[in-house]
Amino acid sequence: MSVREIITNDRAALSVPSLSVAIFDATLRKLLGDLADTLEAHDGFGLAAPQVGVRERCCVLALPPDTKQWGAARVGEQVLVGLVPIVNPVIVWHGRVRAVADEGCLSFPGQRIPIRRYVAVRVQANMTDGTPFEILASGEVARAFQHEIDHFDGKTIFDRQDPRFRPRLRGED
Ligand SMILES: [Zn+2]
Repeated sequence: MSVREIITNDRAALSVPSLSVAIFDATLRKLLGDLADTLEAHDGFGLAAPQVGVRERCCVLALPPDTKQWGAARVGEQVLVGLVPIVNPVIVWHGRVRAVADEGCLSFPGQRIPIRRYVAVRVQANMTDGTPFEILASGEVARAFQHEIDHFDGKTIFDRQDPRFRPRLRGED
């Protein structure tokens, strides 16, 4: 596996929607392995394929073991921890509660943007071999799922910025 180059500071390149993964083969496993290596090399929370120029709906999340602080991704009773590949994730349910927090993105180094996200989401996805599974995500982990799914839809943190927290330009009021 290898570290790939991340597209940075290029909103146009990241604005193109991605296609669902249809073929679960060695090419997909290589891509997900590379995403994991690249994510680890950059110490991020998640990395989506379109961020390395591959317009397919798959990503890798780095899920922290401290679920009290960060929330969790649960599959039944099991808590997912570490580098987890996620293919074709779709949000099929979300709670009512949303929370605002500063969010970063490996494609926009050094930027932190306040974004309102659901604090609990249920996600249907595929494993790397195509097996469907369902994840219940909470807290910052739920935020990460919503962030990566946005990448598949061609949206970046700048498309999600909470307008109430947008810094005013001088003379704008
Ligand atoms: Zn991102």
